[in-house]
Amino acid sequence: MIPASVDALLEEAGRCVACGLCLPHCPTYRKTLNEADSPRGRIALMQGGLERRIPMNERYHAHLDLCLGCRACEAACPNNVAYGGLLAGVRSLAESSRRRGWWRRLVRAALVDGLLAKPARLRLAGGLLRAWQASGVPVLAKKSTRLAQWSLARIVLRLPPIKLQPVWKAVYPAQGAVRGEVGLFLGCVARVADSDTLRATIFVLNRLGYTVRVPHGQACCGALYASLGGQERAAGFERENVDAFSGLDVVISTATGCGAALKGYPQAFADRVQDVSEFLAAAEGWTEVDIAPLAETVAVHESCLMRNVLRCQGKPYGLLHRIPTLAAVPLAGNDQCCGAAGTYALTQPGMAAALLADKIEAVKAGAARIVATSNIGCALHLAAGLKEAGLEVEVVHTVTLLARQMGFDDDKTR
Ligand code: SF4
Ligand code: SF4
Repeated sequence: MIPASVDALLEEAGRCVACGLCLPHCPTYRKTLNEADSPRGRIALMQGGLERRIPMNERYHAHLDLCLGCRACEAACPNNVAYGGLLAGVRSLAESSRRRGWWRRLVRAALVDGLLAKPARLRLAGGLLRAWQASGVPVLAKKSTRLAQWSLARIVLRLPPIKLQPVWKAVYPAQGAVRGEVGLFLGCVARVADSDTLRATIFVLNRLGYTVRVPHGQACCGALYASLGGQERAAGFERENVDAFSGLDVVISTATGCGAALKGYPQAFADRVQDVSEFLAAAEGWTEVDIAPLAETVAVHESCLMRNVLRCQGKPYGLLHRIPTLAAVPLAGNDQCCGAAGTYALTQPGMAAALLADKIEAVKAGAARIVATSNIGCALHLAAGLKEAGLEVEVVHTVTLLARQMGFDDDKTR
């Protein structure tokens, strides 16, 4: 994390030599062909704003807000400009002076500050969403053209069926020969909308001989807050997570969005963080588990942060190839973000839809009936797009698919 001070941010921005090598890798620049929507252009804007040469007005913010934070530019940069940290720092500095409408402020306070920050409220919200989905109201609401104009309503209406919210135990013991112990990071959106993947992760780890601990004091990773200019709040979550996972040598994350944020924590913590695919790729115990065959072609969607920050995008293929007769192939266009990007689909629905459309075309062009991904945000975004396009393609986390072939049954293992 770069401190949100003008000097530190200017120093980082000064590392950019304006070579432009990052431009072809930037999804927003590819779409708009506007220099101000490119990494180089945004860095120049940030420098100008920090030096007070240009006003940080709404036109200025529009170009920064359109940035996905996918960090493809960072991976391509020969000068190692820490673009992600730079953007988070500038957003944080600028946030206090931004004028936002009452509706945006209300949504932000309710969703981000009120809900995501508290696991108990998230659990309650998950239960309420589940009851609402079962009520039949969503069927009527989906017909409302008025509601469809609101990004937030569209996102809520596109959510998959929410499962009964689990009560997480503190420890899930290894089965058979004990090979190690890990801590599991739950995340905030994932624990409500994708508890299957968290349970599947515990299932696979336990069967391979790893005890899983789920520290109760853990908080949100802070990624959503940092992307919305709340770097201070994100730093508070960082402290809570560092405390919660103290004493554990490995911290497993099942969502690459969270994993990338955890990798930005102090080095001693970041070194212990592993994406679940990365950990399982090196895990022992595979000779002692049975994996049923699955005669399917699976298209692998490599999330941006898995490619650009965690750099472990090859690992899901290795895991899927453990399933006999399954063919895992890359989804065409994996070098481009799908447009999910945290709250991006909410705040930038136009660009999010354009990027999603490219993914839907890629799925249509392939033969796969299953898309595997490693990030809950991408999974929800892709699944909603595929459903709207009328395609019967399942989107599932790599580990959930593997666990199913090992005997994981959601209803029995709850
Ligand atoms: S983070 Fe992604 S969208 Fe933003 S400037 Fe870099 S490549 Fe472009
Ligand atoms: S590749 Fe790096 S140094 Fe070159 S323009 Fe992009 S951010 Fe600047």
